[in-house]
Amino acid sequence: MKIILLGAPGAGKGTVAKMLTKLDGSVQISTGDILRGAVQAGSELGKEAKGYMDRGDLVPDSLIMGIMGQRLLEDDCKKGFLLDGFPRTIPQAEALKALLTKLGIKLDMVVNIDVPRDVIFDRLCTRRTCENSACQAIYNIKSMPSKKEGICDKCGSAIVQRADETEEAIAHRLDTYNQKTAPLAGFYEKEGLLKTITGTSSDVVVAGVKKELGI
Ligand code: ADP
Ligand code: ZN
Repeated sequence: MKIILLGAPGAGKGTVAKMLTKLDGSVQISTGDILRGAVQAGSELGKEAKGYMDRGDLVPDSLIMGIMGQRLLEDDCKKGFLLDGFPRTIPQAEALKALLTKLGIKLDMVVNIDVPRDVIFDRLCTRRTCENSACQAIYNIKSMPSKKEGICDKCGSAIVQRADETEEAIAHRLDTYNQKTAPLAGFYEKEGLLKTITGTSSDVVVAGVKKELGI
């Protein structure tokens, strides 16, 4: 499947993407995971991106398109991909459209995961992430704690609160989402690709996608 997952930070894009990869071996491509990996590795890309990310601002479109232009050429994308956290601005959506046309790739659908703001805010404040960049498993101290407090079930690394998950940075990320990313729903509606699914359960979102794709 070739799908874009749209939705506010904390809407569950990552969780849904991971569930969908299990259905047919499509890969999850998360620009946030790629960027956090680059920050941890201390690469040039990471150094450029870190300040924006810590503030809860978007990283410049040119950096993101550089990453994605290469990523989509990799072999594992041939089976299909779930774009999680990209595109996030209209210029990124336009650049992606041009790129996909050039590569001869057609998207199946764009899933807009619609979750109320108060639920999102609460989720992000209680979200914790494995600090191992190769893992980045997600936990929630209220709804999905790790077995041992502060330790990742999957890899044993420390589980931490992300630098951009302070209340202030979260509020700023949600504002940025409303201003810059929410308009993408209209963009993909016009393209005839949009499917909005309202609900706070990832199972419901996955069921909606399966139904739409007839699988
Ligand atoms: P969330 O969806 O929880 O906000 P992500 O992991 O998707 O978190 O992104 C974390 C940060 O990485 C964003 O706040 C932003 O700074 C940067 N980022 C990720 N994807 C993009 C993108 N497509 N365009 C610009 N910045 C991005
Ligand atoms: Zn881990």
